[in-house]
Amino acid sequence: MVEGLQLVRFDLGNRRWNIMSETLLRELERLGVARGILVDMARREQILEVRCEMPHCYHHKGRKAFDPRSQRPPSNWELTADHYPRLKMHGGRLTLDNVRLAHRLCNRVDYGWRIKIGPLLTNGMSLALIAERLEKQSVPRPHGSPRWTPALVRKVFVS
Ligand SMILES: [Zn+2]
Repeated sequence: MVEGLQLVRFDLGNRRWNIMSETLLRELERLGVARGILVDMARREQILEVRCEMPHCYHHKGRKAFDPRSQRPPSNWELTADHYPRLKMHGGRLTLDNVRLAHRLCNRVDYGWRIKIGPLLTNGMSLALIAERLEKQSVPRPHGSPRWTPALVRKVFVS
């Protein structure tokens, strides 16, 4: 009896996940994502929802609002697969263990910071000097940050 109940629960659990997976696949298709790593992940139930997973998201309607990929030129708000945790610039590839979902723009801004800050760190420059340089070059900051500070430089680089 108890075993039977557990089986029923198990079946219901699987069905719930299958429905979630199908819903995600339909959502991806609606956004113009018919194949690739994101579809592979959805089929394997490795995505819970279509949501921008970047540390800083800039879409005014929030992390779950996306434009379809069909637009030309591509929309800033279409869905992309970001190489994470191993970045593309560090040899990371789009594999099941190295992807986070992102708006194209949020991904590009994050990448922009990393390619500016990384080499300066490599050259031995202090966070204060890097902040000063980014400020001088008017490099865009995350929302709500009035200016580049050593703490902000560190935060955007490690998040
Ligand atoms: Zn975003």
